Amino acid sequence: MPELPEVETTVRGLESVLAGRVLTRVEPRPRDLRRAFPARSAPAADRARVTGLGRRAKYGLVHTDRGDTMVFHLGMSGRWRVDPEEIGTHDHLVIETGEGRRLSLMDPRRFGSVDLMPTEALPDWAPFKALGPEPLSADFNAAQLGDALKGRFAPIKAMLLDQRIVAGLGNIYVCEALNIARIAPTREAGKLTGPKRTLLVEAARQVLTEAIAAGGSTLRDYARPDGELGYFSKQFRVYGREGEPCPCGKGVVTRRVDSGRSTFYCPACQK
Ligand SMILES: [Zn+2]
Repeated sequence: MPELPEVETTVRGLESVLAGRVLTRVEPRPRDLRRAFPARSAPAADRARVTGLGRRAKYGLVHTDRGDTMVFHLGMSGRWRVDPEEIGTHDHLVIETGEGRRLSLMDPRRFGSVDLMPTEALPDWAPFKALGPEPLSADFNAAQLGDALKGRFAPIKAMLLDQRIVAGLGNIYVCEALNIARIAPTREAGKLTGPKRTLLVEAARQVLTEAIAAGGSTLRDYARPDGELGYFSKQFRVYGREGEPCPCGKGVVTRRVDSGRSTFYCPACQK
């Protein structure tokens, strides 16, 4: 499942094809995604120029000079392909630019979505309105986290996955950040000290920044036909490493399952 670094890498990849370009074709394909593709999208986007791209949590944003923004979510299996040789049944949206480049949004499991929104209405859009700060922004910090976690008895891991507390952090990066910060995933959220919260914020930024850098180094691959944006292999400290030594050198990575979701952590160093 694409997490924040995959979305960020995808956006950067799309940027190289779309930024400043005129969209000469925006074609929704017959099979819809999770939500029906907005009917007004195709005509509204026709001949629009892309003024910039961005990301909010795990949503990619394509802004146009018509005052609209195309908002996409990759769901479980979505991916953009650059200059695909063929358009298949799993392609839900095809975009062409004045330069003759073609992009297709492919999503076999169809949990993704594409919406077209007036750009100025984005902050009030329901999926965005309740989101907490971006983890890579200065708004995510030990003080903000302290306010958000005050009096909360829930485990810190569950709180970090709550998009209202911090936006876009998923299971993998929460496990990794807690390992770096040496905090047990079950630790009562409201009892984290200020220094621990600082460590946690820094650890979250570190794991995301490293993953985005790893994704960025794969971007040259999408010059090839059918190049897929945003997916890359990463080295994790604890995620998916049950039974292997923790980087701390003292413990073994352990997995526990809560409501169907795996947590990887080291009982020796994470307290
Ligand atoms: Zn350890």
